[in-house]
Amino acid sequence: MTDTVTIIENTAEAREDYGERYGVDEIELTAEHIAALKAGKCIASNNGEYTQFITLKTTIERMCCSYCDGTGTYELAGETVCCSYCDGCGTVPVPEEWK
Ligand SMILES: [Zn+2]
Repeated sequence: MTDTVTIIENTAEAREDYGERYGVDEIELTAEHIAALKAGKCIASNNGEYTQFITLKTTIERMCCSYCDGTGTYELAGETVCCSYCDGCGTVPVPEEWK
């Protein structure tokens, strides 16, 4: 199972807002770790109970929606409407032939 991974601000408030579930692990990556990820390595860590494997997703799966310029909405007859190409999320899947 792949964990849900989210980018949040590095503040106590953002951590509190994100929540703790059953507990908290603090994993601090160094520039050396980031370089290793970019080189295709896997970062492995464990807290004595669970092991975490961290990898860099190298295939871009989604790209900015060109119809709404990534805003998720566009103007239609003077009204702001949800972009139906990206369903309002601002991104669309990268075509297979572009990968
Ligand atoms: Zn769109």
